[in-house]
Amino acid sequence: MKVRELFDKKTVFSFEVFPPKKTSSIEVIYKTLEELKDLSPDFISVTYSAGGSGNGQLACDVASKIKEYGITPVIHLPCINYSREEVSAVLDEIKSRGIENVLALRGDINPEIPPKNDFRYASDIIRFIKEKGDFDIAGACYPECHPEASSMVEDILHLKEKVEAGADHLISQLFFDNRSFFEFREKIAIAGINVPIEAGIMPVTNKNQIERMVTMCGASLPNKFTKIMQRYEHSPEALRDAGIAYAVDQIVDLVAEGVDGIHLYTMNNPYVARKISESVSGIIGA
Ligand code: FAD
Repeated sequence: MKVRELFDKKTVFSFEVFPPKKTSSIEVIYKTLEELKDLSPDFISVTYSAGGSGNGQLACDVASKIKEYGITPVIHLPCINYSREEVSAVLDEIKSRGIENVLALRGDINPEIPPKNDFRYASDIIRFIKEKGDFDIAGACYPECHPEASSMVEDILHLKEKVEAGADHLISQLFFDNRSFFEFREKIAIAGINVPIEAGIMPVTNKNQIERMVTMCGASLPNKFTKIMQRYEHSPEALRDAGIAYAVDQIVDLVAEGVDGIHLYTMNNPYVARKISESVSGIIGA
Protein backbone atom coordinates (compact mmCIF):
# COMPACT_ATOMS: atom_id res chain seq x y z
CA MET A 1 0.00 0.00 0.00
CA LYS A 2 1.34 3.42 -0.94
CA VAL A 3 0.88 5.99 1.81
CA ARG A 4 -0.28 8.71 -0.62
CA GLU A 5 -3.44 6.67 -1.30
CA LEU A 6 -4.51 7.01 2.33
CA PHE A 7 -4.96 10.77 2.46
CA ASP A 8 -8.05 10.79 0.23
CA LYS A 9 -9.77 8.38 2.58
CA LYS A 10 -9.11 9.67 6.10
CA THR A 11 -7.04 11.68 8.54
CA VAL A 12 -3.85 9.62 8.51
CA PHE A 13 -2.49 8.50 11.90
CA SER A 14 1.07 7.16 11.84
CA PHE A 15 3.88 6.25 14.22
CA GLU A 16 7.64 6.64 14.09
CA VAL A 17 10.07 4.19 15.71
CA PHE A 18 13.85 3.91 15.71
CA PRO A 19 15.87 0.69 15.34
CA PRO A 20 17.85 -0.48 18.39
CA LYS A 21 21.43 0.68 18.92
CA LYS A 22 24.07 -1.78 17.72
CA THR A 23 24.67 -2.84 21.33
CA SER A 24 21.08 -3.94 21.98
CA SER A 25 19.09 -6.80 20.57
CA ILE A 26 16.63 -6.42 17.70
CA GLU A 27 14.15 -8.34 19.84
CA VAL A 28 13.61 -5.17 21.90
CA ILE A 29 12.10 -3.29 18.96
CA TYR A 30 10.15 -6.39 17.89
CA LYS A 31 8.54 -6.42 21.32
CA THR A 32 7.69 -2.72 20.96
CA LEU A 33 6.16 -3.36 17.52
CA GLU A 34 4.15 -6.25 18.93
CA GLU A 35 2.50 -3.75 21.28
CA LEU A 36 2.15 -0.95 18.71
CA LYS A 37 0.49 -3.18 16.10
CA ASP A 38 -2.71 -3.51 18.14
CA LEU A 39 -3.15 0.26 17.86
CA SER A 40 -3.55 -0.16 14.06
CA PRO A 41 -1.69 2.95 12.87
CA ASP A 42 -1.97 3.68 9.13
CA PHE A 43 1.79 3.26 8.80
CA ILE A 44 4.90 3.00 10.94
CA SER A 45 8.08 4.73 9.81
CA VAL A 46 11.56 3.55 10.78
CA THR A 47 14.39 6.04 11.24
CA TYR A 48 17.80 5.51 9.66
CA SER A 49 21.05 6.96 10.92
CA ALA A 50 22.65 9.59 8.69
CA GLY A 51 25.99 8.54 10.15
CA GLY A 52 27.11 6.65 7.08
CA SER A 53 27.48 3.47 9.10
CA GLY A 54 25.27 1.58 6.66
CA ASN A 55 22.46 0.44 8.93
CA GLY A 56 20.11 -0.17 6.01
CA GLN A 57 19.84 -3.85 6.83
CA LEU A 58 18.60 -3.10 10.33
CA ALA A 59 16.02 -0.56 9.14
CA CYS A 60 14.87 -3.07 6.49
CA ASP A 61 14.57 -5.84 9.10
CA VAL A 62 12.43 -3.62 11.33
CA ALA A 63 10.31 -2.51 8.34
CA SER A 64 9.81 -6.15 7.27
CA LYS A 65 8.56 -7.02 10.75
CA ILE A 66 6.08 -4.11 10.55
CA LYS A 67 4.88 -5.52 7.20
CA GLU A 68 4.51 -9.00 8.73
CA TYR A 69 2.12 -7.43 11.24
CA GLY A 70 -0.05 -6.20 8.37
CA ILE A 71 0.96 -2.54 8.82
CA THR A 72 2.44 -0.41 6.03
CA PRO A 73 6.13 0.36 6.70
CA VAL A 74 8.00 3.51 5.64
CA ILE A 75 11.82 3.58 5.66
CA HIS A 76 13.63 6.88 6.28
CA LEU A 77 16.51 7.36 3.86
CA PRO A 78 19.04 10.10 4.62
CA CYS A 79 21.53 10.71 1.81
CA ILE A 80 24.25 13.16 2.82
CA ASN A 81 26.78 10.53 3.95
CA TYR A 82 25.95 7.89 1.37
CA SER A 83 27.10 7.39 -2.22
CA ARG A 84 24.75 6.78 -5.15
CA GLU A 85 25.83 3.10 -5.12
CA GLU A 86 25.00 2.74 -1.41
CA VAL A 87 21.58 4.38 -1.77
CA SER A 88 20.91 2.30 -4.85
CA ALA A 89 21.73 -0.92 -2.94
CA VAL A 90 19.40 0.03 -0.08
CA LEU A 91 16.60 0.84 -2.53
CA ASP A 92 17.08 -2.58 -4.18
CA GLU A 93 16.84 -4.21 -0.76
CA ILE A 94 13.72 -2.20 0.10
CA LYS A 95 12.11 -3.18 -3.20
CA SER A 96 13.04 -6.86 -2.81
CA ARG A 97 11.21 -6.92 0.52
CA GLY A 98 8.06 -5.51 -1.06
CA ILE A 99 8.34 -2.17 0.76
CA GLU A 100 6.92 0.72 -1.26
CA ASN A 101 7.34 3.80 0.92
CA VAL A 102 10.39 5.92 1.79
CA LEU A 103 10.92 9.19 3.63
CA ALA A 104 13.70 10.85 1.61
CA LEU A 105 15.99 13.05 3.69
CA ARG A 106 19.23 14.90 3.49
CA GLY A 107 20.17 13.94 7.07
CA ASP A 108 21.85 16.11 9.68
CA ILE A 109 25.36 17.24 8.89
CA ASN A 110 27.87 15.68 11.28
CA PRO A 111 31.09 17.75 11.31
CA GLU A 112 33.06 14.56 12.05
CA ILE A 113 31.79 12.72 8.96
CA PRO A 114 32.66 14.27 5.61
CA PRO A 115 29.67 14.16 3.24
CA LYS A 116 29.97 11.85 0.23
CA ASN A 117 28.91 14.67 -2.15
CA ASP A 118 26.73 12.49 -4.39
CA PHE A 119 23.61 14.06 -2.88
CA ARG A 120 23.52 17.54 -1.39
CA TYR A 121 19.84 18.07 -0.58
CA ALA A 122 16.77 15.91 -0.06
CA SER A 123 15.51 16.98 -3.50
CA ASP A 124 18.60 15.27 -5.04
CA ILE A 125 17.79 11.88 -3.48
CA ILE A 126 14.10 12.31 -4.36
CA ARG A 127 15.00 12.68 -8.07
CA PHE A 128 17.26 9.61 -7.75
CA ILE A 129 14.53 7.50 -6.07
CA LYS A 130 12.04 8.46 -8.77
CA GLU A 131 14.43 7.10 -11.40
CA LYS A 132 14.93 3.89 -9.41
CA GLY A 133 11.31 2.78 -9.22
CA ASP A 134 7.72 3.32 -8.30
CA PHE A 135 8.11 4.32 -4.65
CA ASP A 136 5.84 6.52 -2.58
CA ILE A 137 8.12 9.36 -1.43
CA ALA A 138 7.61 11.48 1.68
CA GLY A 139 9.70 14.56 2.52
CA ALA A 140 10.34 16.47 5.76
CA CYS A 141 9.13 20.01 6.43
CA TYR A 142 9.71 22.54 9.19
CA PRO A 143 6.82 24.66 10.54
CA GLU A 144 9.32 26.82 12.48
CA CYS A 145 11.87 26.88 9.62
CA HIS A 146 14.83 24.53 9.15
CA PRO A 147 17.61 25.71 11.50
CA GLU A 148 20.12 26.19 8.64
CA ALA A 149 17.81 28.21 6.39
CA SER A 150 18.43 31.96 6.35
CA SER A 151 14.69 32.70 6.23
CA MET A 152 11.30 31.03 6.09
CA VAL A 153 10.88 32.28 2.52
CA GLU A 154 14.11 30.55 1.44
CA ASP A 155 13.13 27.36 3.27
CA ILE A 156 9.67 27.28 1.69
CA LEU A 157 11.13 27.84 -1.79
CA HIS A 158 13.42 24.86 -1.21
CA LEU A 159 10.47 22.85 0.06
CA LYS A 160 8.69 23.66 -3.18
CA GLU A 161 11.67 22.29 -5.13
CA LYS A 162 11.47 19.14 -3.02
CA VAL A 163 7.80 18.65 -3.88
CA GLU A 164 8.43 19.41 -7.56
CA ALA A 165 11.22 16.82 -7.50
CA GLY A 166 8.61 14.21 -6.56
CA ALA A 167 7.69 14.25 -2.83
CA ASP A 168 4.16 12.86 -2.64
CA HIS A 169 3.46 14.12 0.86
CA LEU A 170 5.25 15.74 3.81
CA ILE A 171 5.84 14.99 7.48
CA SER A 172 6.55 17.92 9.76
CA GLN A 173 9.18 18.44 12.37
CA LEU A 174 7.76 18.37 15.90
CA PHE A 175 6.24 21.55 17.31
CA PHE A 176 4.45 22.46 20.53
CA ASP A 177 2.51 25.48 19.37
CA ASN A 178 -0.19 24.60 16.84
CA ARG A 179 -0.29 28.20 15.64
CA SER A 180 3.14 27.74 14.05
CA PHE A 181 1.79 24.75 12.09
CA PHE A 182 -1.37 26.57 10.96
CA GLU A 183 0.62 29.63 9.83
CA PHE A 184 3.10 27.40 7.99
CA ARG A 185 0.27 25.55 6.26
CA GLU A 186 -1.09 28.85 4.97
CA LYS A 187 2.33 30.05 3.79
CA ILE A 188 3.08 26.89 1.86
CA ALA A 189 -0.40 26.90 0.29
CA ILE A 190 0.31 30.45 -0.95
CA ALA A 191 3.62 29.16 -2.34
CA GLY A 192 1.64 26.59 -4.36
CA ILE A 193 2.59 23.52 -2.30
CA ASN A 194 -0.51 21.41 -2.03
CA VAL A 195 0.57 17.86 -1.16
CA PRO A 196 -0.77 16.42 2.13
CA ILE A 197 1.17 17.28 5.28
CA GLU A 198 1.20 15.29 8.45
CA ALA A 199 1.79 17.17 11.68
CA GLY A 200 4.65 15.71 13.74
CA ILE A 201 3.66 15.35 17.40
CA MET A 202 6.19 14.49 20.07
CA PRO A 203 4.70 13.66 23.47
CA VAL A 204 7.20 14.98 26.01
CA THR A 205 7.07 12.59 28.91
CA ASN A 206 10.37 13.06 30.70
CA LYS A 207 12.59 15.96 31.65
CA ASN A 208 15.69 15.00 29.63
CA GLN A 209 13.64 14.86 26.47
CA ILE A 210 12.66 18.52 26.72
CA GLU A 211 16.16 20.00 26.60
CA ARG A 212 17.34 17.49 23.98
CA MET A 213 14.42 18.20 21.69
CA VAL A 214 14.72 21.95 21.93
CA THR A 215 18.48 21.96 21.27
CA MET A 216 18.12 19.54 18.40
CA CYS A 217 15.27 21.13 16.49
CA GLY A 218 14.80 24.62 17.95
CA ALA A 219 11.05 24.15 18.57
CA SER A 220 9.61 27.10 20.46
CA LEU A 221 7.98 26.38 23.79
CA PRO A 222 4.65 28.10 24.49
CA ASN A 223 4.08 29.45 27.98
CA LYS A 224 1.42 26.80 28.70
CA PHE A 225 3.90 24.03 27.84
CA THR A 226 6.76 25.50 29.94
CA LYS A 227 4.44 25.96 32.95
CA ILE A 228 3.32 22.33 32.77
CA MET A 229 6.89 21.06 32.45
CA GLN A 230 8.08 23.20 35.40
CA ARG A 231 5.15 22.24 37.58
CA TYR A 232 5.70 18.48 37.18
CA GLU A 233 9.43 18.20 36.52
CA HIS A 234 10.09 16.44 39.84
CA SER A 235 7.21 14.04 39.53
CA PRO A 236 7.90 11.58 36.69
CA GLU A 237 4.40 10.06 36.58
CA ALA A 238 2.65 13.42 36.65
CA LEU A 239 5.02 14.75 33.96
CA ARG A 240 4.32 11.71 31.79
CA ASP A 241 0.55 12.15 32.17
CA ALA A 242 0.78 15.88 31.53
CA GLY A 243 2.91 15.28 28.41
CA ILE A 244 0.35 12.80 27.10
CA ALA A 245 -2.52 15.21 27.82
CA TYR A 246 -0.66 18.05 26.07
CA ALA A 247 -0.10 15.93 22.94
CA VAL A 248 -3.77 14.84 22.93
CA ASP A 249 -4.85 18.48 23.22
CA GLN A 250 -2.63 19.40 20.25
CA ILE A 251 -4.04 16.53 18.16
CA VAL A 252 -7.69 17.37 18.90
CA ASP A 253 -7.08 20.97 17.82
CA LEU A 254 -5.17 19.91 14.67
CA VAL A 255 -7.86 17.44 13.60
CA ALA A 256 -10.60 20.02 14.21
CA GLU A 257 -8.65 22.35 11.89
CA GLY A 258 -8.63 19.70 9.16
CA VAL A 259 -5.04 18.44 9.33
CA ASP A 260 -4.19 15.77 6.72
CA GLY A 261 -2.52 13.52 9.25
CA ILE A 262 -0.79 13.10 12.60
CA HIS A 263 2.65 11.52 12.79
CA LEU A 264 3.40 10.46 16.35
CA TYR A 265 7.04 10.32 17.38
CA THR A 266 6.56 7.34 19.71
CA MET A 267 10.14 7.26 21.05
CA ASN A 268 9.58 3.47 21.06
CA ASN A 269 7.26 3.90 24.05
CA PRO A 270 4.15 1.75 23.51
CA TYR A 271 2.52 2.88 26.78
CA VAL A 272 2.51 6.52 25.66
CA ALA A 273 1.46 5.63 22.09
CA ARG A 274 -1.43 3.55 23.46
CA LYS A 275 -2.69 6.26 25.82
CA ILE A 276 -2.65 8.82 23.01
CA SER A 277 -4.16 6.50 20.39
CA GLU A 278 -6.99 5.50 22.72
CA SER A 279 -7.73 9.13 23.55
CA VAL A 280 -7.89 10.28 19.92
CA SER A 281 -9.20 7.21 18.05
CA GLY A 282 -12.78 8.55 18.03
CA ILE A 283 -11.85 11.98 16.75
CA ILE A 284 -9.35 10.75 14.14
CA GLY A 285 -11.92 8.33 12.75
CA ALA A 286 -14.84 10.82 12.87
P1 FAD B 1 16.62 19.38 2.89
O1 FAD B 1 15.22 19.39 2.40
O2 FAD B 1 17.69 19.08 1.92
O3 FAD B 1 16.89 20.80 3.56
C1 FAD B 1 18.06 21.02 4.36
C2 FAD B 1 18.43 22.50 4.33
O4 FAD B 1 18.92 22.84 3.03
C3 FAD B 1 17.25 23.45 4.60
O5 FAD B 1 17.74 24.56 5.30
C4 FAD B 1 16.80 23.87 3.18
O6 FAD B 1 16.18 25.14 3.17
C5 FAD B 1 18.14 23.90 2.45
N1 FAD B 1 18.03 23.60 1.00
C6 FAD B 1 17.28 22.66 0.42
N2 FAD B 1 17.45 22.69 -0.93
C7 FAD B 1 18.36 23.68 -1.17
C8 FAD B 1 18.97 24.20 -2.36
N3 FAD B 1 18.66 23.72 -3.57
N4 FAD B 1 19.86 25.22 -2.24
C9 FAD B 1 20.19 25.71 -1.01
N5 FAD B 1 19.65 25.27 0.14
C10 FAD B 1 18.74 24.26 0.06
N6 FAD B 1 17.55 12.48 10.03
C11 FAD B 1 18.20 11.29 9.93
O7 FAD B 1 19.42 11.28 9.84
N7 FAD B 1 17.53 10.10 9.98
C12 FAD B 1 16.19 10.04 10.05
O8 FAD B 1 15.62 8.95 10.08
C13 FAD B 1 15.46 11.29 10.13
N8 FAD B 1 14.11 11.31 10.18
C14 FAD B 1 13.44 12.51 10.14
C15 FAD B 1 12.04 12.50 10.12
C16 FAD B 1 11.33 13.71 10.07
C17 FAD B 1 9.83 13.67 10.00
C18 FAD B 1 12.03 14.95 10.09
C19 FAD B 1 11.27 16.25 10.09
C20 FAD B 1 13.42 14.96 10.15
C21 FAD B 1 14.14 13.76 10.15
N9 FAD B 1 15.53 13.71 10.18
C22 FAD B 1 16.20 12.52 10.12
C23 FAD B 1 16.30 14.96 10.32
C24 FAD B 1 16.68 15.58 8.96
O9 FAD B 1 17.61 14.73 8.31
C25 FAD B 1 17.31 16.94 9.27
O10 FAD B 1 16.34 17.84 9.72
C26 FAD B 1 18.17 17.55 8.16
O11 FAD B 1 18.91 18.63 8.74
C27 FAD B 1 17.40 18.10 6.97
O12 FAD B 1 16.88 17.12 6.21
P2 FAD B 1 15.85 17.46 5.01
O13 FAD B 1 15.61 16.21 4.31
O14 FAD B 1 14.71 18.26 5.48
O15 FAD B 1 16.83 18.41 4.10
